[in-house]
Amino acid sequence: MAAMNDSADASLPVSVTDCAKTYPDGTRALRPTSLQVAPGEVLALLGPSGCGKTTLLRLIAGLESPDAGGQVRFGDEDVTALPIERRGVGMVFQHYALFPQMTVAANIGYGLRIRQVPEAQRRQRVGELVELVRLQGLEHKRPAELSGGQRQRVALARAVAIRPRVLLLDEPLTALDAKLKEQLREELAELLRRLRITTLHVTHDQQEALAIADRLAIMRAGQIVGVGDGEALYRDPGHPFLAEFLGRVNRLPRDAAAQAAGEIRLAGRHWPCPPALQGCAAVLVRPEDLRVGEPGPDAARLSVTRRVFLGERVQLHLAGAHAPLIAEVDRDSPVRVGDTVGVRVDPARWMPWFDDAAS
Ligand code: ADP
Repeated sequence: MAAMNDSADASLPVSVTDCAKTYPDGTRALRPTSLQVAPGEVLALLGPSGCGKTTLLRLIAGLESPDAGGQVRFGDEDVTALPIERRGVGMVFQHYALFPQMTVAANIGYGLRIRQVPEAQRRQRVGELVELVRLQGLEHKRPAELSGGQRQRVALARAVAIRPRVLLLDEPLTALDAKLKEQLREELAELLRRLRITTLHVTHDQQEALAIADRLAIMRAGQIVGVGDGEALYRDPGHPFLAEFLGRVNRLPRDAAAQAAGEIRLAGRHWPCPPALQGCAAVLVRPEDLRVGEPGPDAARLSVTRRVFLGERVQLHLAGAHAPLIAEVDRDSPVRVGDTVGVRVDPARWMPWFDDAAS
């Protein structure tokens, strides 16, 4: 058996072409969808509950088949008609699905045993995996004796023990508490980098997706709305759903007069609207892009109604515009509730909003 770090050679691209899914009750869970995942890449499927993430993951796993015309390929192989046990996938679910009566070592080695890997090799491989997921000393414990984080590490080791061609993670950290989630998130990111197995990772948690994945595919209502590097999508979402889903935004409507004048108006202040956004009925701006300072002729004049200390930063609720706005400022900001402040926006920070209900 090859050493653990040989797995990079075996990484395969995954391609999904025109895969739609209609469940027997008529639910159209996925509209025709295409997606390419590069060899060794970690791609997060991110989106609100019910948008079709799990359905897409299950189509790739072989737990569901796509509507006619859809195709799933692992490398050169068309796996569309193959059942899960012949696809060579490893899966980790939100609820660990470990065998409760088996020890950690037996759980991790289960897939190797049913593949009749000789015992000496099996032991060696389980030993490597125990080390990889830092469970040394716990080999003989049963799942009930472990913490949630430890159980999820066992599930991960079990999934990768068989050297899967593709690793599929379905909300793997959702059941953990916040602190543990953050810790395991870092571990998982690091482990996936080392393993270099092509991975799809379903999550509704944007921090988790940003921390773990190389690229994000953001889904809404059975469709992928955008695919890309997390930072690029955050900075330049292009689509209002992406801007609103990834991070937080304020929406400023532009009435007919503002549109006719080519302006963005806020609390009586008129700023020129960037040419690319002239046709937009509203513009978006992130809380951290509202620059809160002294009032002045170039600033919108707003009052602070609420100040929320969030540790590394402070959130301010601002009144005086069409609707309350949220700004985020440095934690050392001297601004207090009741203050009147001047808000300025770097024109490059405005983002487009358009009504895409028809799409
Ligand atoms: P997500 O993982 O993003 O929460 P899912 O893929 O689980 O979304 O679900 C997408 C849609 O398909 C939802 O409306 C869900 O209710 C529906 N759905 C999921 N599984 C089934 C099923 N087996 N039968 C019918 N509808 C389903």
